[in-house]
Amino acid sequence: MVALGRLVNKDIRKGLEMKKIGFIGLGIMGKPMAMNLLKAGYSLTVYDIVPDKVKEVVEAGAEAASSNKEVAQKSELVITMLPNSPDVKEAVLGNNGVLEGAKVGTILIDMSSIAPLASKEVAERAKEKGVVMLDAPVSGGEPKAVEGTLAIMAGGPQETFDQVEGILDIMGASVTRVGEIGSGNMTKLANQIIVALNIAAMSEAMVLATKSGVDPERVFEAIRGGLAGSAVLDAKMPLVLKGNFKPGFRIELHIKDLANALDTAHEVGVPVPLSSAVMEVMQALKVDGKGSDDHGGIIQFYEKLAQVQVRQ
Ligand code: NAD
Repeated sequence: MVALGRLVNKDIRKGLEMKKIGFIGLGIMGKPMAMNLLKAGYSLTVYDIVPDKVKEVVEAGAEAASSNKEVAQKSELVITMLPNSPDVKEAVLGNNGVLEGAKVGTILIDMSSIAPLASKEVAERAKEKGVVMLDAPVSGGEPKAVEGTLAIMAGGPQETFDQVEGILDIMGASVTRVGEIGSGNMTKLANQIIVALNIAAMSEAMVLATKSGVDPERVFEAIRGGLAGSAVLDAKMPLVLKGNFKPGFRIELHIKDLANALDTAHEVGVPVPLSSAVMEVMQALKVDGKGSDDHGGIIQFYEKLAQVQVRQ
């Protein structure tokens, strides 16, 4: 209802003429994002390397393609929502990829969280084919993808952004052009550093409170309205208290983002000591078999160290 209400109220003028959208990558995020575009009346051609993933979207009215190339052949705008840089390169530049099927003038919006340098590389190759690209990663996770209230951070030409802003509006509550190509993903890396460090800080503090004999639920209630309050605390603490680490956003994906952040930071000469420390916490959790847990599960690292559980 929230998403529908927003659609009625929101100005979706730009992009309305662009009716044929291709959507590649129907995972945790891509599926609900594609569903919102369908609900808004766009005609969608979809593809995922795992055939089962397109089932629900096809039942809702999308057409299934047999390759990324076919998606591009049938679309004026192609959106990709894939795990990481190599997947985007494979889907766009690879055999039977988007660029093989795209016409001159096609717009490509990569909404995956990947390395900014990879965005620039893919955009360069796309440009050779007359395809313009935006990098437009998102923040907010599955619930906001379902509601159509993601935060979208875009990089690329202003003119292209203006053409598709109305379409991005359907998936997001805030859509911000940050700068040229790659700046969307640079912003996403900043976002991921802040989220990872927030979850780690919350975990360290709540394990301390719990082992000291203070009820973590009461601590949460007491501090959430003060300076320590945050969107991270509000989203993750209720799940931690229930011991619910079902993803959401998998620790493995956050490791991917921090690896991209560390590489990028070192390339431009920025030491990132806190990000490195949290990266090792996540690596330890992965070794412990928790890589597929939600990143709220970072608390399990601290719980194991202190031999205490933070639960209701
Ligand atoms: P996911 O693994 O659930 O979905 C990715 C999908 O891409 C899968 O269905 C996979 O089969 C498909 N795929 C992989 N390679 C492909 C290819 N070459 N061609 C076609 N399909 C291919 O991942 P997700 O959680 O949906 O995340 C997608 C992106 O969004 C990631 O970059 C992630 O970091 C980012 N993100 C995720 C969340 C979250 O909470 N899950 C939040 C914000 C951003």
